[in-house]
Amino acid sequence: MSFFTPAHKPFLIAGPCSAESREQLWQTARGMAGLPLQLFRAGVWKPRTRPGSFEGKGAIALDWLQEIRQEFGFALAIEVAEAEHVELALQYGIDALWIGARTTVNPFQVQHLADALRGNDIPVMVKNPVNPDVDLWQGAIERIKTAGIKDVAAIHRGFSAYKTVNSYRNQPNWIIPVELRRRIPGLPIFCDPSHITGKADLVPRVAQKAMDIGFDGLMIETHSHPEAALTDAAQQLSPAGLKDLLQQLVIRKEIPSGSDGMLELEYLRQVADNIDAEIIDLLSRRMEISSQMGEIKRKNNMTAYQPERWREIMETRRSQGSRLMLDEQYISALWQIIHDESIRRQLEQPVQNSAKNQ
Ligand code: PEP
Ligand code: MN
Repeated sequence: MSFFTPAHKPFLIAGPCSAESREQLWQTARGMAGLPLQLFRAGVWKPRTRPGSFEGKGAIALDWLQEIRQEFGFALAIEVAEAEHVELALQYGIDALWIGARTTVNPFQVQHLADALRGNDIPVMVKNPVNPDVDLWQGAIERIKTAGIKDVAAIHRGFSAYKTVNSYRNQPNWIIPVELRRRIPGLPIFCDPSHITGKADLVPRVAQKAMDIGFDGLMIETHSHPEAALTDAAQQLSPAGLKDLLQQLVIRKEIPSGSDGMLELEYLRQVADNIDAEIIDLLSRRMEISSQMGEIKRKNNMTAYQPERWREIMETRRSQGSRLMLDEQYISALWQIIHDESIRRQLEQPVQNSAKNQ
């Protein structure tokens, strides 16, 4: 039984983005007292995109966190990015570690961490790399496992994109964690909706989606006073917000525990989405070609509809389809629609440049 196997879902990790002060940790933990928390998280060293912003309190925060564990009984998780962080975390008896997205991208750095972890028995979570590369994520997990760490889990926190879509801070690309789970069956996988959305009001929706797909747990940034947070202020929930989220979270009973059925379904849906997008792309190109053919026919005084050509199209498509086990009637019906649209396009008068520019 892995440390990360939840007795009941979700395996919950919550706490502030950064440990800012003893007072802030206490207030946050007090707000969360009584919640079914498996790990209290807090960043002690913060990887910042640009220099000059708050970079964490460092080792002193480890003292504060020990007090939180003593007072509230929460097990503790922190991010490690350097071998020295691992050594200090072990020295202070931190219960679990995570490797951040900016570290997972770098195999040298992950290997340094793996070497520092060797011979120790501490659970480790590996966040996805910032770029959507499942091999890199898998590779980081393998390095940690090869160092002898038995309890390893993955955290999906979304992927950077130049342009934000859906107003999310990081794109979820659900197919990637689903693919990781296919490659490493039984790997506990958690979702971090805080870093995916970047916005507190969107966090519950993404947390629910993760549960619907069959994720095992959630990492949710929670701060006693989110608006005053020194890092990631927009995405942190208050303890009351976390309580609401948990109350509303629906854990689907029809997913038998340990089953990958929903993950499999989500994977297949994503593959179907990609195929449909290709079909639409091909249809658009097909119609573009039809318009060009229409122009040539018009110039040569030919009718758009050519019965002989139409018979040939139907025959070739039907036999091509049946070679691939596609029903002939289905192909006939489909190509009737494609051909009708093609003829309609061919009859369309080309838009004049002068009209276009108006
Ligand atoms: C964090 O958990 O606060 C953090 C820095 O996350 P990530 O590595 O996902 O950006
Ligand atoms: Mn954060």
